[in-house]
Amino acid sequence: MSYFSDIYQGIKSLLTGMSITGKYFLNFRKGSITQQYPENRETLKMFERFRGEVIMPHDENNEHRCTGCQACEIACPNGTIEIIWDRQLDEETGKKKKMIDKHIYHLGMCTMCGLCIEACPTDAIKWGQNFENSVYDRKYLDRVLNKPGSKLMKGVEDKE
Ligand code: SF4
Ligand code: SF4
Repeated sequence: MSYFSDIYQGIKSLLTGMSITGKYFLNFRKGSITQQYPENRETLKMFERFRGEVIMPHDENNEHRCTGCQACEIACPNGTIEIIWDRQLDEETGKKKKMIDKHIYHLGMCTMCGLCIEACPTDAIKWGQNFENSVYDRKYLDRVLNKPGSKLMKGVEDKE
């Protein structure tokens, strides 16, 4: 008896699945949720809350908002962020002050929890939407977020 019951259940679940697929097929213009990736790579825009990677935006003058305060490094639960800093001469004041040398982000370790972004007092880091992060060697997942030759935007310290 269970033999026929299994066949019945199998056919029933097959038809249920096909009816859902058929419904999307017939109504694809009303709310298609599939995308032709990677053909649409040029136009593909991820949704706003997508967490692809942590990035540090720079403006057209190659300036960022990172003061090197290390709050993100401390907030990160698994050591994904490493801040390397030193004391450099501030051209404006002529005094030495803490400045970032490298903001290192180990993407391969990141759980996308967002605690670093929440902790940053100057909004220096945010979510990037890139998701094509496959590499053949894990070392390429280690990134320096501040660009070469970049510096701190004027006035950012005042907002801390
Ligand atoms: S998102 Fe979470 S795991 Fe990733 S760097 Fe930030 S705090 Fe660390
Ligand atoms: S990214 Fe933000 S929290 Fe991290 S060191 Fe820079 S200013 Fe501080």
